[in-house]
Amino acid sequence: MTKILIDNGHGIETRGKRSPDGRLREYRYTREIASAVVSGLQQRGYDAILLVPEENDLPLKERVRRANAYGPDSILISIHCNASGRGNEWRQPQGWSAYTTIGETSADLLASKLYEAAEANFPERRIRKDFSDGDADFEASFYIIRHTVMPAVLTENFMMDNQDDVEFLLSDVGRNAVIQTHLQGIIKYLTAV
Ligand SMILES: [Zn+2]
Repeated sequence: MTKILIDNGHGIETRGKRSPDGRLREYRYTREIASAVVSGLQQRGYDAILLVPEENDLPLKERVRRANAYGPDSILISIHCNASGRGNEWRQPQGWSAYTTIGETSADLLASKLYEAAEANFPERRIRKDFSDGDADFEASFYIIRHTVMPAVLTENFMMDNQDDVEFLLSDVGRNAVIQTHLQGIIKYLTAV
């Protein structure tokens, strides 16, 4: 059975990475989402684990070492919230997006399934897409997806420096939609491969 590794961004001591009003802290929010995604997958019979159960930040190199111990047949999803600025002021850009590494890789299908799930779960919200490479996901050399050996996608769950996105993220509807997007995207991918 495919091992599903769920990673959450940053740690309690990471500077910045919060909404300007301090109500949303990325490390805490993504840990809540990641835990709910892991339990949701486990309840449905999937083999999912939290890559970083600790509250504190784990250096990226150690996260990668931990993930790679599960080998190339596992999959990894790293859950984050985005910001268009430095988090000290409210800004305009909004939306959900997902990133894979540059070039065509096995992560592209995983990202496509997460996008499908995002479209279904966020019908009235902005989904940010980059079709320059032929599919919806963005491509970037984030360390965690570049150095891991399995299909890996990093999700940026809306903008923590956009007031409307933060209201959504902190609402019950929003939290649930973010959790469902990950659950459904992962399950769609696993049934497709
Ligand atoms: Zn982050």
